[in-house]
Amino acid sequence: MSTSALVWFRRDLRCDDHTALHHALTHFKRVYCAFIFDRDILDVLPSPADRRVEFIWYSVTELKQHLNDMGGDLLVFHAKAAQAIPAIAEALKVDAVITHHDYEPAAISRDATVEQTLKASGIAFTTFKDTCIFEKEEVLTQAGGRFSVFTPYKNAWLKKLTPADLEERPVAQHAAAFAKPDATQFKGVSAQIAKQTGIHQPTDGSHIPSLQDMGFEPTNLLELKIRTGQSGAQATLDEFLSRMDGYKKQRDFPAVKGVSYLSVHMRFGTLSIRQAARHAWTLFNSTGSEGAMGWLNELIWRDFYFQILYNNPRVVNNAFKAEYDDIVWDSDDKAKALYQRWCDGQTGYPLVDAAMRQLKHTGWMHNRLRMVVASFLTKDLGLDWRWGEKWFADNLNDFDLSANNGGWQWASSSGCDAQPYFRIFNPVSQSEKFDADGKFIHRYCPELAKLPKRFIHAPWEAPAMELQMAGVQLGTSYPRPCVDHAVAREKTLARYAVVKKKVTSDE
Ligand SMILES: Cc1cc2nc3c(=O)[nH]c(=O)nc-3n(C[C@H](O)[C@H](O)[C@H](O)COP(=O)(O)OP(=O)(O)OC[C@H]3O[C@@H](n4cnc5c(N)ncnc54)[C@H](O)[C@@H]3O)c2cc1C
Repeated sequence: MSTSALVWFRRDLRCDDHTALHHALTHFKRVYCAFIFDRDILDVLPSPADRRVEFIWYSVTELKQHLNDMGGDLLVFHAKAAQAIPAIAEALKVDAVITHHDYEPAAISRDATVEQTLKASGIAFTTFKDTCIFEKEEVLTQAGGRFSVFTPYKNAWLKKLTPADLEERPVAQHAAAFAKPDATQFKGVSAQIAKQTGIHQPTDGSHIPSLQDMGFEPTNLLELKIRTGQSGAQATLDEFLSRMDGYKKQRDFPAVKGVSYLSVHMRFGTLSIRQAARHAWTLFNSTGSEGAMGWLNELIWRDFYFQILYNNPRVVNNAFKAEYDDIVWDSDDKAKALYQRWCDGQTGYPLVDAAMRQLKHTGWMHNRLRMVVASFLTKDLGLDWRWGEKWFADNLNDFDLSANNGGWQWASSSGCDAQPYFRIFNPVSQSEKFDADGKFIHRYCPELAKLPKRFIHAPWEAPAMELQMAGVQLGTSYPRPCVDHAVAREKTLARYAVVKKKVTSDE
C-alpha cells in the first residue's frame, strides 16, 4: 500500500459514493483532501453576486464538516488550481493526486498542466470516471464509431449497462485512512502556495475563505430555499423519488412540480450520478415505471452531451453541423436591443418573458421553457445561438458547458438532432399547450394576472375592453410583441435556406 494521497475535489462535492475517495482510501495509508476556489474560473464571472459560488461555498462547508467527522479534513484555498494543487501536494509530500475526469476543453488543459508539474516532482496524477455513467468512447456504434444522434446512443447505452456501472463506491467504511494536516503542515501548505503563486491566502487552508474574502457577496440562494450540499441533494432526491413514477406525464408543464430540480446537485456532484441512476433503474426494473425510464432517459442525455463535448471540442465555438456556421445572424443595434428585451423578459410573449424572468430571479428554468426561449432567440429574433448560450452560462445555477451547448445547438438545429432540417416552435401554441391556464405566466408576469386565460398567451389579441378591465396597457404595463411570429418564421426559413442549399448540394 502506498503512503499518502491528496484527493482533489472539483465538481464532486460529497463524501459518499465517490470514486476518487474510494480509491484513495483503499490504496493509500493517509488521505488528505483539498478544494480550490479556482481563480481561473471565478475571476471571469460577470457578477460578484453569483448563486453558484454561494452554492459551492455552503456545499464545501458541509463537505469539510463531514470529512472532519470521519477523521479527515478539507484544505480550502482561493487560488489558481493549476498552481495550488501541485503546491499542496509538494508541501504534504504525497505520492499521488487523485481526482475525477472533466470533459471540458479548459479543464482538460488545466489537468494536463497539473499532471506535468506533479510529474516533475515525482508525484502521480490519477484520474477516474465519476461524473457520468459512460464517458468518452465507452458507448460506440457497432462499427466502432461515435454516436451523434441521441436515440441510437441511448439504445446502445442501455444495452451496455450492467449492475457494476451503477455500483456504489463506498467511503465511510474505509474512513480509517483519512488524515488531517497538523498546524505545521497547514502553514507549510500556505507558504508553498504563496511561494508558487506569489499570492498570500486569506487563510492557511484550515478555514474556508469567506465569500467576501473572495470578492463575492451573498445572493438570494437561501431565500429561494435552494438546498445545498450533500444533505440538500439527498433531501431533494428523497422528495423526488415519491414523484418519479409520474415524471413522464408531468415533466413538460412548468407550473406543475413534475421534474426533479436536481440539476444543480448533478452539476456540482453533491449527488452521485450512480445513486440517481440506480433509483431510476431499480424502479423501472421492479415496476416497469414509465416515469423512471423517462427520467433515466434524461440522465442518458447528460452522458450523451458529455461525450459529444469530449469527442468534438470544437462545438464550444462552432456549430456541431459545420454547414450551420454559414447562417448569417442579425447583429446590428436593433438585434442587440431585441437581445436585451429577451434577457430582461420583455419580449411581449408572456411564456417567453415568464421563463426569462424565472431564470433571472432564481437561476433555474424549466426544460420545456429552455427549449421555447432558445427557439425564440434563434428563430423568432434571428440571433446567434451563442448569445443565448452565454446568457444561460452566466445565469444558470446548473450551467454545464456540455448540456448547455448541446441544448442551444439542438434548439438552433445546428447540433445533434435526428431532424433532417429544422423545427420552429410557435411561442403562443407552446404556451397554450404547456401552460394552458397561464399559472406559470401569472407567477412571473403578475401584471397579466387579471387577464382572462384565453388571452394570457397572446395579450395583443385581447379586445381593448378586456385589456382595460385587466389593467393591462400594452406598450406601458406590458410590452407589445417585439416581433410578429409569422413574419419571423418566414425570415428564418430564408435565413436557414443557406443550410438547406448546402445540404442539398452536398448530397
Ligand atoms: C437551451 C438549453 C440549455 C440547457 N442548459 C443546461 C445546463 O447548462 N445544465 C444542465 O444541467 N442542463 C441544461 N439543460 C437541460 C435541462 O433543461 C436541465 O437539465 C433541466 O431543466 C434541469 O432541471 P431538473 O434537474 O429538474 O431536470 P430533470 O428533468 O429532473 O432531469 C434530471 C437530470 O437529467 C439531466 N438532464 C435533463 N435534461 C437534460 C438535457 N436535455 N441535457 C442534458 N442533461 C439533461 C440533468 O442533469 C437533470 O438534473 C438545457 C436545456 C436546453 C434546452
